[in-house]
Amino acid sequence: MAIASIKSTELQMLKGRFNFLVNQASAVITIVDRKGIILYQSPSIKHILGYDSQKRIGKNFLHSKLVHPKDVVIKEKLIDLAFHHENNNFQGELRMQHKDGTWHWMEVVFNNQLSNPSVGGIVVITHDITNRKRLEIQKNEFLSIVSHELKTPLTAIRAYAQIMSGHLKKKEHNEKEIIFLEKIISQTDRVTQLISDLLDIGKIEEGKLSIEMEPFQMKLLLEKILDDFTYIADLRNVQLSGNTKAFVLGDESRISQVVMNLLTNAMKYSPEESKIVIRVEKIGKEVITSVTDEGDGIAKDKQKYVFDRFYRIEEKKSRQTSSGLGLYIASEIIKLHNGKIWLKSTKGKGSTFYFSLPVAAK
Ligand code: ADP
Repeated sequence: MAIASIKSTELQMLKGRFNFLVNQASAVITIVDRKGIILYQSPSIKHILGYDSQKRIGKNFLHSKLVHPKDVVIKEKLIDLAFHHENNNFQGELRMQHKDGTWHWMEVVFNNQLSNPSVGGIVVITHDITNRKRLEIQKNEFLSIVSHELKTPLTAIRAYAQIMSGHLKKKEHNEKEIIFLEKIISQTDRVTQLISDLLDIGKIEEGKLSIEMEPFQMKLLLEKILDDFTYIADLRNVQLSGNTKAFVLGDESRISQVVMNLLTNAMKYSPEESKIVIRVEKIGKEVITSVTDEGDGIAKDKQKYVFDRFYRIEEKKSRQTSSGLGLYIASEIIKLHNGKIWLKSTKGKGSTFYFSLPVAAK
């Protein structure tokens, strides 16, 4: 009798503690069954999105209209991932509508606990991140204005340096000055590249990196890139291989940006006398382009991070300037094309970076 009463008071206490925590939490906790029916929703939804949790129980979460129409795809993707993988967190950001009609940015994390008897459902934890998002948007706007303002004087500096170098080349004994001017030009190019990368990052974060899809011949684009950058091919032993005439569907200038990034990385991270091979081939319904170098290579444990934003491998910092943005932007561009980007590399023996694009329908 005594034991039973201790247990029931303990149970009461645990229940009280649980209720207090989920009520006060800055997150909404929802549990849905395998059909998407809401089994539980924490009362905290009241102060976060204005709804009464009790009224939401029994409703179908999958058909809920709370998510912004533009973000429904994100929700559907997360649901699909969570329903097919147990015990994993799947996280995303989307807009949800408050009862008063305003849109709030929310971070959602799905975790499938259907096989866990003490949960018996898919747990969805939702956080309000509106303030953080607002600051992010302001930061991106600021970055965008500053970047545009910086680009104009840089273009002028580059143009004047080029004119001066042209003049000096017509006269004799100006070798040193010409080298200095070439250095000014290459340094302005680096800053301009960094500014473009920062602008792209801002666009990616806001989902505004737009691509205009048109069919084009991949091999032709690669030839054009090498032609335009003859100095690269001259400076380094760059070879183009593969005979496919296949057309891909994509944004030619964005894909050119991806190739340039892989090519500059191959040059940056391999010895000057070594070979770089660009290869293009059609495999099934995909065109696969790859860039192979004989350089430093990337250790296995670091490979999964190279496409992350701002990721750089520290040991190489002394030799090359790097921002850790290039591969992140490249992977985002390829994602927008429904393609894949990956690498094979052995430390000390070089790397091959690949990306695939869907073949254009005739
Ligand atoms: P960045 O080159 O500006 O640092 P990236 O995003 O292009 O940024 O590359 C991220 C990191 O991946 C680089 O800092 C470098 O350490 C590594 N990396 C990229 N390409 C290669 C390559 N071809 N060989 C060796 N390491 C590479």
